[in-house]
Amino acid sequence: MPIESDPRRDDLVQPFQIDPFALRGRLVRLGPTVDRILSQHDYPEPVAAILGEAIVLAVVLAGALKYDGIFTLQTKSDGPVRLIVADVTTEGAVRGYAQYDRDRLDEVPPARADASPSVPGLIGKGYIAFTVDQGEHTERYQGIVELTGANLAECAQHYFRQSEQIQAGIKLSVARAGHDGAWRAGGLMLQRVPPEGGYTVIADDVEDGWRRAMVLMSSATPAELVDPALSPHRLLFRLFHDEGVRVFATHPIEARCRCSSERIGRILRSFPEDDIEEMRKDEVISVTCEFCNTRYEFAGHDFAPLASA
Ligand SMILES: [Zn+2]
Repeated sequence: MPIESDPRRDDLVQPFQIDPFALRGRLVRLGPTVDRILSQHDYPEPVAAILGEAIVLAVVLAGALKYDGIFTLQTKSDGPVRLIVADVTTEGAVRGYAQYDRDRLDEVPPARADASPSVPGLIGKGYIAFTVDQGEHTERYQGIVELTGANLAECAQHYFRQSEQIQAGIKLSVARAGHDGAWRAGGLMLQRVPPEGGYTVIADDVEDGWRRAMVLMSSATPAELVDPALSPHRLLFRLFHDEGVRVFATHPIEARCRCSSERIGRILRSFPEDDIEEMRKDEVISVTCEFCNTRYEFAGHDFAPLASA
């Protein structure tokens, strides 16, 4: 594996494969992308951390799908963090936000420094949904499952066991590990994809290969997953060099919201007549994008009825 030709280190999806067991994997590394999304809001640390994990999980899962559009991960629950949304477009544009209750957050005991944010403590009971939206005139795919697991990686693994019958292992990490305490996130996913035409090795070896790869994957520490000094190739080589790991071309990821003045204006104009009537009375209507915190202002008189008698 050409370790030296590894120029891009951050904000990427690095697909890899472990031969001959046909194990497919992805390593996701987020630096400025996740720091930008989390810094756009004044989130308390535990909220930023669990949103960061949701974002890296969304990127890890989106990389496993063939789609042309938007992949969305959403949790809805009864805990202090009652809603999380993270979405990823095919082009690699990522965004996300969380809704939380500050008073209830203060009652949550602080997480161990090296542990993933706690799903039961922060998110509570509820569900996690995965949606693929490929635009108008296409069928929307949605998978939904109860939140079961100590952390988001376990919840996603539970989902795969339940609904997709896919064997997959996921590991996530988020921390202020960058320059000046910037947020960083890392994720690893390994899945079993039986090759067309069957395996070239005997079944017992395939089982052994899968188990060994899972053990090696779980040996990656949370610090390694977010270490800015450890390149993606070097990390994969460190974990899987004995297994014959092969890397493929990386996909870039960036923080980019899809909101715009036209888009928000269109949404406002689609409101019921009574609401539009109310808005017309205001001199200024301001709308803030929940994802990126950008504020848009409209003049109330812009919402005059289109056809007046
Ligand atoms: Zn926005």
